[in-house]
Amino acid sequence: MDVYIPFQPSVKPLHNEKEEDYWFLFKDDKLMVYEKEGQIHIPRRKDVLKLNISIYNIQCMGSYFGYNCYCGEFVDLIEDERIGLMDLKTLSKSVEENMYFLVSKANLLLNWLKSNQYCGRCGSKMHRKDSQFERAMVCSKCNNTTWPRTSPAVIVAITKGDKLLLARNKQFPDRRYSVIAGFVEYGETFEECVKREAYEEVGIKVKNIRYFGSQPWPFPNSMMIGFTAEYLEGEIRVDGEEIVDADWFSKEEVEKMHKKSISLGSQLIEWFLKSH
Ligand SMILES: [Zn+2]
Repeated sequence: MDVYIPFQPSVKPLHNEKEEDYWFLFKDDKLMVYEKEGQIHIPRRKDVLKLNISIYNIQCMGSYFGYNCYCGEFVDLIEDERIGLMDLKTLSKSVEENMYFLVSKANLLLNWLKSNQYCGRCGSKMHRKDSQFERAMVCSKCNNTTWPRTSPAVIVAITKGDKLLLARNKQFPDRRYSVIAGFVEYGETFEECVKREAYEEVGIKVKNIRYFGSQPWPFPNSMMIGFTAEYLEGEIRVDGEEIVDADWFSKEEVEKMHKKSISLGSQLIEWFLKSH
């Protein structure tokens, strides 16, 4: 078993069907989950077969540790108390990280398929490209082809000596503070985006921008690219539009405010707590 790349994307199944193949099935943007001994599981082929439901928009996602993975949708009511539906945010706290990213991938592929039923150029019906290697939708009339896309967004932990910049976004439901983030503009480098977001949102300039890590984020189809950076100059001045408050916080303060999650933002804050 190849663990160097646990998930291998593929448009067509890479292995023979197995009872344990994974099925990521959605109904109204919620995922079907299987509860066993208080634990949340992703349904396997054998669990799904028992349900006798009709599944549509089926796509092969690829292979995870040698098991085929599929995504699809269903509308049937299921009267089995072990089967439930869970939204993606709640699910992120209930399954291990690798599995959560597979769920995200399933959600992305499904939304991509549903959003590309008609050609953006001529309006004709699109169909799936028949290919082993290429996941694409092709227009039946003008041949316009579209592939799954993600929108890059940067997220950056900015430090000033032993303090971390945290900001409160207007959109955040609770009074939660987080590191700065924003979408990459067309034709912009990630580093330029880090500089621009920091300057636009809180009015400061940064230096020593360093790559930290990346994470697909399915709300709705982003790719977060994480950085660390150091304060260069300027006074904090929030834009009032997106950011309503921002400040430098000490390690002790950050520790009290921090709620751990699998998000890259949370990992950046943990990096600060460990290294400062
Ligand atoms: Zn077309």
